[in-house]
Amino acid sequence: MIKVKKRKILLLPGDGIGPEVIGEVKKIIKWFNDNKSLDFEIEEGLAGGCSYDKHGTPITDEVFYKALECEVVMLGAVGGPKWDNLEFSKKPERALLKLRKELKLFANLRPAICFEQLVDASTLKPEIVSGLDIMIVRELTGGIYFGEPRGIKPIDNGERKGINTHTYTTSEITRVARIAFDLAKKRSNKVTSCEKSNVMEAGQLWKEEVQELHDKEYKDVELSHMLADNCAMQLLRNPKQFDVIVTDNLFGDMLSDQASMLTGSLGLLPSASLGAKNKDGEMRAMYEPIHGSAPDIAGKGIANPIASILSFAMALRYSLDLDNEADALEKAVQDVLNDGLRTKDILSKGMKETSTPEMGDAIISKLQ
Ligand code: NAD
Repeated sequence: MIKVKKRKILLLPGDGIGPEVIGEVKKIIKWFNDNKSLDFEIEEGLAGGCSYDKHGTPITDEVFYKALECEVVMLGAVGGPKWDNLEFSKKPERALLKLRKELKLFANLRPAICFEQLVDASTLKPEIVSGLDIMIVRELTGGIYFGEPRGIKPIDNGERKGINTHTYTTSEITRVARIAFDLAKKRSNKVTSCEKSNVMEAGQLWKEEVQELHDKEYKDVELSHMLADNCAMQLLRNPKQFDVIVTDNLFGDMLSDQASMLTGSLGLLPSASLGAKNKDGEMRAMYEPIHGSAPDIAGKGIANPIASILSFAMALRYSLDLDNEADALEKAVQDVLNDGLRTKDILSKGMKETSTPEMGDAIISKLQ
């Protein structure tokens, strides 16, 4: 097994607006090195369509091994219409799936925070979303997306049958639940676990294992269970009732997308995918904005870099143990929004439109 090198950060800008937004993250990493005497070592590599164009594969072994030895991987976004018709194994998204799978990133953390300055960007009423701060923890490497058997088979009557299998084991459930409980302790101390225990055995096991872990190790955290369909409704009715939501791969995919839209702009939301800690306390992790490569605006200098910059703040907090620096970076973003600076996607009346690099520079100037 390749050893993780502390403080080594691999930048994988990817396709579309990826290089533009990761360019701003790179400026911020350099700022921390120059001004806070931090010693982040930056590596860069190709992943996605850009790698396919150059090497005929969405990620080369060389880049993949770099990812294995870096403490933090910062991804921009991959994909775009240019590569839509490639065969499955060559598609840009394969780079992402390979990284998630091989780095064993089993927990996906997606905060849904409603910035006070952007409350009007949500489709929900301001009083419903104002002050919203939820963390969704999605299991990422198990469940129906990976379970066997799977496939499409011919059946006797001349029809075909599509098969996917939803499975979870005790350890797959408890390792992700543990992350949710630990996060809750640093937040409002509340975990809601979501499944479909009323109709699925794997859901029943999920509920029982989360409860057991709670009773053994996390009695001080408030735990409730909710059926995933009810959670989808509650997220629209009263999202502020939640603190940390933990759920499986399939439900997490949908609930985290739904939660992110409560806040209005794709360009603002970060994410983290975390692996297990080894015996030396080292953990592999990948951080990325939740948005895609936005081919419609790529190369125009108007992409919002905030989601990527906040993803780096998550890296500072969860991988690099630099909570004060993470707080400072998040505050710098808030300050810039308070000053009325906006990229085009979040522009409203009376605000000042800025380009991607101007937004990055403004955030850096607030860090000073
Ligand atoms: P998208 O997130 O790229 O774009 C959706 C809309 O939001 C577009 O109008 C876009 O201009 C806008 N937008 C997104 N990010 C923005 C930002 N930072 N600043 C300003 N505006 C922003 O989703 P899509 O259009 O469905 O997908 C485009 C490509 O991205 C596809 O090839 C898709 O497969 C890929 N994709 C990649 C990832 C990833 O790499 N993790 C995630 C989702 C989609």
